[in-house]
Amino acid sequence: MNGAMVAAPGGVQQAITDLLRRGLDEKVLNAVLVPARVPAGDSFAWLLVRDSSVLEETQPLPPVMSVQGARAISRYARGGVSGKVAAVLRPCEVRATVELAKLRQVELDGLLLVSMDCPGALPLKTYLDDPQQGDADFEKLLSGDETVAREVCKTCHLFSRPVSDLHFATLGADNGQASIVAGSEQGRLLLDTLRIAEKSSLDAWERAVAERQEQRKQARTQAQAAFRQDIAGPDKLLETLSQCLNCHVCRSVCPICYCRQCYFESQALLMPPDNTLARARRKGGMRLPTDTLLFHLGRMAHMSLSCVSCGACEDACPSSIPVARMFSLVGDATQKQFDYTAGRSVTEPLPTITYKEDELSDLVAPYFETYSGRETAS
Ligand code: SF4
Ligand code: SF4
Ligand code: SF4
Repeated sequence: MNGAMVAAPGGVQQAITDLLRRGLDEKVLNAVLVPARVPAGDSFAWLLVRDSSVLEETQPLPPVMSVQGARAISRYARGGVSGKVAAVLRPCEVRATVELAKLRQVELDGLLLVSMDCPGALPLKTYLDDPQQGDADFEKLLSGDETVAREVCKTCHLFSRPVSDLHFATLGADNGQASIVAGSEQGRLLLDTLRIAEKSSLDAWERAVAERQEQRKQARTQAQAAFRQDIAGPDKLLETLSQCLNCHVCRSVCPICYCRQCYFESQALLMPPDNTLARARRKGGMRLPTDTLLFHLGRMAHMSLSCVSCGACEDACPSSIPVARMFSLVGDATQKQFDYTAGRSVTEPLPTITYKEDELSDLVAPYFETYSGRETAS
């Protein structure tokens, strides 16, 4: 398999920017959706760029995920885009975009998804507290020091080669070089139009990706086993969520939670005061606002099949609850039941719209787990 070797003396960010500039200047692209530093300099936002001179201000691979890219795309491309628009995304953002396309929240026609080998992202709060230190930490991350990365990134095994149209491959490449890998006919067409030939071997990159994937899979299995011990069972789960403010920010930043009216914010859960009083009497006392646990369990039931482990919810949580790790753990388990991986393929149907006679056969009997010597049905 071959890719197009490009010079990247200024790093992969410069190589991506150069391609986007050529696309805009040669009018192959109508617009480009790409992250850019905000004017205050202390965070990043998405910018829809039409004039290539503005690309100088953009940063295709920012240190943090301040807004999940699929959320930005769904706000813009729900009804389709006119002309050809390139969106530069991390692999987990591509996978979320694919899920949203299947959920009919994004129209992929006309969108050209551009991705890169992802080094990970820094925790958003750490970056916002000290952006200068954050920029220095990101340099460390780019040079392979993962200790500064978000927890979800340390165990992300899907950090490369999502189903994007063009992918910038840097793993295993010599310094100052990158390869562009075309993942679709429209990606190939764009390279052809810009006269970029796919002539260089991708063997070294494929080996380096496979090696890192294996390491990350092992790290993910170990981290999830340890985390499961921390949160398994009603008592530990309630303890993990004890600082939850019930603010639902995790829901609002999640790319997959697209409902215009969330059930957990609807009138349906508002009880008459007397009912609340009766519940309080029954228990002796009652936490308000109510239904914190129900919100998390309900959200998991609604979207864990499409969770892409992007970490946006955990980044945004004001109480530092490991919400992305919770959702990744449950997401991996539910997706495994259906032999499904969120965002892996555009054509693979969502499990919720397909029916197989033998699915869930191992779960037909009531499912029990024993926690601290007592049995709890779930
Ligand atoms: S989860 Fe982290 S490492 Fe994985 S693609 Fe997203 S930002 Fe990159
Ligand atoms: S639940 Fe969290 S980790 Fe999963 S897709 Fe939503 S924001 Fe990303
Ligand atoms: S987990 Fe965090 S973001 Fe989500 S509702 Fe609780 S406090 Fe808010």
